[in-house]
Amino acid sequence: MMKKTLPDKRGYFGDFGGRYVPETLMRALDELTNAYRLVRKDSNFQKELREYLEDYAGRPTALYEAKRLSAVYKRARIFLKREDLCHTGAHKINNTLGQGLLAVRLGKKRIVAETGAGQHGVATATACRVFGLKCVVYMGALDIERQALNVYKMRLLGAEVRPVYSGSRTLKDATNEAIRDWVTNVDDTHYLLGSVVGPHPYPAMVRDFQSTIGDETRGQLRKKRVGLPDYLIACVGGGSNAIGFFHTFLKDRGVRMIGVEAAGKGVNTREHAATLTKGFPGILHGMKSYLLQNRDGQVELAHSISAGLDYPSVGPEHSYLKDAKRVRYVTATDRDALDGFKLLTEAEGIMPALEPSHAIGYLKRLMPKTKKSESVVLCLSGRGDKDIDTVKSLLKT
Ligand SMILES: *Cc1c(COP(=O)(O)O)cnc(C)c1O
Repeated sequence: MMKKTLPDKRGYFGDFGGRYVPETLMRALDELTNAYRLVRKDSNFQKELREYLEDYAGRPTALYEAKRLSAVYKRARIFLKREDLCHTGAHKINNTLGQGLLAVRLGKKRIVAETGAGQHGVATATACRVFGLKCVVYMGALDIERQALNVYKMRLLGAEVRPVYSGSRTLKDATNEAIRDWVTNVDDTHYLLGSVVGPHPYPAMVRDFQSTIGDETRGQLRKKRVGLPDYLIACVGGGSNAIGFFHTFLKDRGVRMIGVEAAGKGVNTREHAATLTKGFPGILHGMKSYLLQNRDGQVELAHSISAGLDYPSVGPEHSYLKDAKRVRYVTATDRDALDGFKLLTEAEGIMPALEPSHAIGYLKRLMPKTKKSESVVLCLSGRGDKDIDTVKSLLKT
């Protein structure tokens, strides 16, 4: 049976998670763990956060029955959890508002964050404006070139974007720099991590902040008289939208869950980000989890058409859920994602981000196995505005 109490005291989900960090960070992580344990049960904190989520971020997000999309397959009813309607365009704001408010409680004046595509950087810079915090975002120099618009947005929002020139000059290296900054400035600084990854307590804390997605979904399904869903499906990068969506249903044995990883150009090429499908347990960014690595244990570069799925590891709770066989992890290629993007746009007039387009693209394999009496709920983690240039260059229409 799934236990709601995971992780254990040391931050392990079975074999995965933990804290693989230098001694200098232990005190900061302990302080954060204790503070988080307190605010989790603090009704004032939860009430204040709920107000920001509702009045600022636009929660609850809609649960929409996609009848025209369902009609494509003529099987189960398909529902979309509309995280694309959140302020800043994706679920990431749920976590940055939560950690921002926590940083205020801790008396911190300064936030550091890492970002790959810039989506988490923008959501962090946004939360820092709301809470009056100084914001420094580390970003790989290569990503800065590729994501000029998000860099500009972060600067408009008053964040300092610091380029990272080491390693592959991408997210992995930016994360290392953000951690280094935190170690040096831990007294006045909070490290605002963007997914359910990193050392304990981040995987559990970010999951809890994102669990509002699944909690709302449960109530909305009840209100629509659907009851428990038969299938939940979500894309998995670091894994925060998926775990936030799945978590409240883990104990409900009848709810089947599917996490969709990015297969890039194919899982049998070297260009993919299918960590749970093709990786092996290893250590990166302070946690033990499945990891894309070569035979010598060197971390491999991940590839995906969607920058948000382009991470060589994954949240430790997903590694645990994979091995426990509670969630099934599958893959969708760049091509599947483009098909998914087109399908939802044409069927429903909703342009999805390329990340959840992977989950939509997977429906062609899932739906034929479903029955008319069943329901499938898909987490539409973000909107596609940020990806239109990519889509335009690839679809050539
Ligand atoms: C960042 C992002 C993701 C991937 O992050 P998770 O932590 O796996 O949720 C997925 N969808 C969108 C729209 C994103 O911006």
